[in-house]
Amino acid sequence: MPREKILVVEDEADILEVIQYNLEREGYAVTTSADGGEALRMARSESPDLLLLDLMLPGMDGLEVCRRLKEDTLTRTMPVIMVTAKGEESDIVIGLGMGADDYVIKPFSPRELVARVRAVLRRGSLRDGAGPAERIQRDGVLIDAVKHQVLVDGDPVPFTATEFRLLHFLASHPGRVFTRNQLLSRVIGDDAIVIDRNIDVHVRAIRKKLGSNRALVETQRGVGYRFKDESN
Ligand code: CA
Repeated sequence: MPREKILVVEDEADILEVIQYNLEREGYAVTTSADGGEALRMARSESPDLLLLDLMLPGMDGLEVCRRLKEDTLTRTMPVIMVTAKGEESDIVIGLGMGADDYVIKPFSPRELVARVRAVLRRGSLRDGAGPAERIQRDGVLIDAVKHQVLVDGDPVPFTATEFRLLHFLASHPGRVFTRNQLLSRVIGDDAIVIDRNIDVHVRAIRKKLGSNRALVETQRGVGYRFKDESN
């Protein structure tokens, strides 16, 4: 299998060096850029398997790079992991809304970075597979989409239709973070029957019903929610 190519966009040389070192050690082929405009050109010409994109760049910032990547049919499906500083969660929410796949917040450990990269690449390679699984088993939770039933530690627990859809959607994309707006539009949509459009309320109810498995639904502070990644 050819080595997967990662384009790392980062203007701080010491951080770039650490990222490059750790990704190459994992066997990835790494190219780098310190400039948003150049990164866009490289994304088009080199078609990397993944882009690691710092948001705070001189000139064209990372969000603008992301927006242009997602507008271009040539680069639209290229996975993007945003790299950002603490306190810039609103930028993360915007980037995820544009179609970025994930984010890491500085300072991050090399181990965390590699895990995120691996998870996003794995999701990309699974993308061509079947749709959402009919039965999802994680820890003590079994989600059965055919029977519309959730078993928690072997016992059936009643979920409302909205809670079920939300849990099934999150569990179908383990490790992937979704903003509240994304969850609203993808899970609840224009469903007039759903009176409470507050995602947090539904998540609270879901966690209560999951009992000792409640940690499967993770809060990403200031950003949204994700179902626990399979690898950790
Ligand atoms: Ca920067």
